[in-house]
Amino acid sequence: MTPTLTIAVSKGRIFKDALPLLAAAGVVPQEDDLESSRKLILDTTLPHVKLVIIRAADVPTFVENGAADLGIAGKDVLMEFDGEGLYEPLDLRIARCRLMVAGYPDRPLPAQRLRVATKYVKTARRYFAAQGKQAEIIKLYGSMELAPIVGLADVIVDLVDTGNTLRANGLAPLENIAEISSRLIVNKAAMKIKHQLVKNFVERMAAAVANE
Ligand code: AMP
Repeated sequence: MTPTLTIAVSKGRIFKDALPLLAAAGVVPQEDDLESSRKLILDTTLPHVKLVIIRAADVPTFVENGAADLGIAGKDVLMEFDGEGLYEPLDLRIARCRLMVAGYPDRPLPAQRLRVATKYVKTARRYFAAQGKQAEIIKLYGSMELAPIVGLADVIVDLVDTGNTLRANGLAPLENIAEISSRLIVNKAAMKIKHQLVKNFVERMAAAVANE
């Protein structure tokens, strides 16, 4: 019997952008109305392949612990994840954006201790430490743009795509921290135990990316 392959994918933008690549690799969810479905586990056209649909920040945890064999997660989430048990064999080149420092374009920043609002606490701490800058990191879960406006922080660290969200709030990108895209990740044990199956899937996804 073919062993099963479970693939963890985050809801929203990444799932939407991953669907054409998965389809090109032969994996199509068997669900009539994906938009409104509340199912967390989806069967696919390949009987041994299942998708689990979870929060973006949970994808590396599922894959590291073997709850899923593979996952699709943003580089931003992977940079923030401390785990050791993951392979990252493929850049899917979807959901592309930048992780940036942003703030008021024409306001001098404090020379001493910069207050930074972000949900990317570890990545921001690493970035400012590498620059030798003192930073106080303020953890937020959303609406980061509000922080400089209400005086909670001097700058934010957040994902920027078109820059419209920043502009709409009077802010501008200041520094680029990293180019972000979604990556295919693989559980280390699955890579060994289900080697052929995982290898085939990674190769089919790589071909799908190359054909985009
Ligand atoms: P934009 O206004 O196009 O610059 O988009 C910025 C907003 O969309 C921010 O709230 C980001 O957190 C979010 N965003 C942009 N790109 C992505 C992405 N690839 N994945 C998830 N969220 C994103």
